[in-house]
Amino acid sequence: MTMPIDADARRAVAPVICYPVETLPASDMAQYGRARETLTKVDKVLVAPRDARCFTVPAGHFFRITSVEGPQVGDLNLWAQHDLSERFYSGKTRALHGTHITTGQRMWSSFPTLRPMATLTHDTLDWYGIDDFGGSVHDVIGTRCDPYTNQLLSGGQYHHCCHSNLIRALADHQGISYAEAEPFVHDVLNVFMCTGFTRDTGQYFMKASPVRPGDYLEFFAEIDLLGALSACPGGDCSSKHSADTAACYPLLVEVFAPASGTLDGWQSPQPNGYDRSHGG
Ligand SMILES: [Zn+2]
Repeated sequence: MTMPIDADARRAVAPVICYPVETLPASDMAQYGRARETLTKVDKVLVAPRDARCFTVPAGHFFRITSVEGPQVGDLNLWAQHDLSERFYSGKTRALHGTHITTGQRMWSSFPTLRPMATLTHDTLDWYGIDDFGGSVHDVIGTRCDPYTNQLLSGGQYHHCCHSNLIRALADHQGISYAEAEPFVHDVLNVFMCTGFTRDTGQYFMKASPVRPGDYLEFFAEIDLLGALSACPGGDCSSKHSADTAACYPLLVEVFAPASGTLDGWQSPQPNGYDRSHGG
């Protein structure tokens, strides 16, 4: 290894934030806050351990993912209900908001729509912050546990990774085959999962989730949504995933309607305004 003589000076250059978010269209969190005081439950889905379920949320409704029975992480996919090609874009959400998301931040959709799909309106784990290992909760850095990576690393055929769970749930909900459903499954929001990158090697790590029964993450649906949530076979992800050895618990999804009038003036975001001519 040859070190340039100005190596220290190059390393000492201060970073700049890639995407300052001050110019993003703002959410009216005060209005969402007033609306969430008036919620009526309209639907609920219980996701069994090592399995996934779909649910729908009309634009202007709220949904919550709640820990029940024991510490459990969930892998969340979101699509525009009427066009599955518009899906959650984990990478751009990470670039805009950071490695983990919490109240006030949004889940953005894929190109070419690139618009808010959901806004986080309440997070009972917002006290956690960033721990001494660099870990935090609700990450957009992991992908989802999947049988292909498991095959490479450990061998064998494991069928209840979040990737496969999400495929089965989407196929069942849409009445399509697993092969048709698979390309729609995408990188997730890791709900309740506590993760980070090691400081010395930069490797993705997980640790026991701080979630406890009763904790929840709440979202406001900015557009009509189809969601799928997998209760990860990793359980609280304290040791292993991609196996049936971890203690696993269900996750509860509830959908709520706010009182009429509480969202007066709110508009569902339009698709991105770029003209898509790409210089041609
Ligand atoms: Zn998983």
